[in-house]
Amino acid sequence: MKTEQPKPVTFKKINATNKMKEIMERHFRELDEASKTKSRKVAWCTSVGPAELLRGMGFLVFYPENHGAMLGSTRMATDLIPLANALGYSPDICSYLTADIGSYLKGASPISKAYPGIAGPPRPDVLVYNTNQCRDVHDWFSYYGREFNVPVVGIQTHRGVGDISKAHIDSISNQLKAIVPQLEEVAGRKLDMDEFKNAVGLSRQCTDLWKEVLEIAANVPSPLTFFDGTIQMGPAVVLRGEQVAVDFYKELLAELKQRVRDGVGAIDDEQFRLYWDGMPIWGKLRELSTQFAGLNTCVLASTYCSSWVFPALDPDDPFDSMARAYIELFIVRDENYKERYMEDQINRYKIDGMIFHDAKTCPNNSNNRYGMPERLTNKFNMPTLVINGDLNDLRCYSEEQARTNIEAFIEQIAEKKSR
Ligand code: SF4
Repeated sequence: MKTEQPKPVTFKKINATNKMKEIMERHFRELDEASKTKSRKVAWCTSVGPAELLRGMGFLVFYPENHGAMLGSTRMATDLIPLANALGYSPDICSYLTADIGSYLKGASPISKAYPGIAGPPRPDVLVYNTNQCRDVHDWFSYYGREFNVPVVGIQTHRGVGDISKAHIDSISNQLKAIVPQLEEVAGRKLDMDEFKNAVGLSRQCTDLWKEVLEIAANVPSPLTFFDGTIQMGPAVVLRGEQVAVDFYKELLAELKQRVRDGVGAIDDEQFRLYWDGMPIWGKLRELSTQFAGLNTCVLASTYCSSWVFPALDPDDPFDSMARAYIELFIVRDENYKERYMEDQINRYKIDGMIFHDAKTCPNNSNNRYGMPERLTNKFNMPTLVINGDLNDLRCYSEEQARTNIEAFIEQIAEKKSR
């Protein structure tokens, strides 16, 4: 069977997006104000770093990876990466890192384009990392530590973890406690356990709601696409630990539940359901979402968007529960764990096929390199496709080739379903 030619598509707007844009703008303006007036201390933090601990000391928190994604989605990244390459940061390492350093060197930021009056990222008072996702974040923050002459503190996490033991939790929990005095010195105040617990509690509420948002995609038709998720996840990344993120996800969830009650899908006439593994190709989200929608295909679940689901967080046990939450993430785990996780996702979301994005500069989020697609294809008799590309460096991505491969892939799924 041949699939029909892609047709023009219209996107169904999620109304809560307006609120999301408002609160993201407030976040950047608050950081800018603090940076200019020195009214609050600013910590830069990795996306799955110890944000709740920082909030317990009154820091405002800025996430360079979020800035990296903005550089990608505005397509500024590809031209900025060579500036970091010229300093010796290889084109093969994280293109969030290279794009972000390029942005700093050139003094060009998507923040100033989106929010007039803000020059760019706020100046950090301290840089706080967790290597649970990769080593690149440590090197990235070390660069800025030297540039701004501010402390770089962090957590070294085990990688390739299978079962999580008490020794793992103790190691991370002790490291979290060990960085408190350094952070207190920068903050100029003590850690307030009530504020810390409150932040952990709000993070937990935020993460529970975000999980519910993502899991609503199990409905047929799905009211949400992966591409929607990459936009709606902003507050779960940068505002976890704050009430505003909790309120936003309540609103978003209510809207999506209404879609389910009304039988409204995120795309018209959903026929095929796909899972996206790996990083988004930030500069091509619009093109990809248009192509898939035109092929009646809903890409509705992903490993990436689920990276900010931390069910272990417990305000009554903040250190140990944070330690567990930030080590039990998918990206930290071994291949066996990842395979079981994907099997569960395939069943939960009634997946017809999987796309693996092999991101040139992020091996940590490219899960196709050790036989995973082949094993899942065999186990589920399900087509899989590997797309070569990158999160930010569009020189690594052939759009024409990806388009052709996606078309052939959907034809393959259609043929299999018609048998
Ligand atoms: S996980 Fe990948 S994209 Fe994220 S910071 Fe590390 S190398 Fe970059």
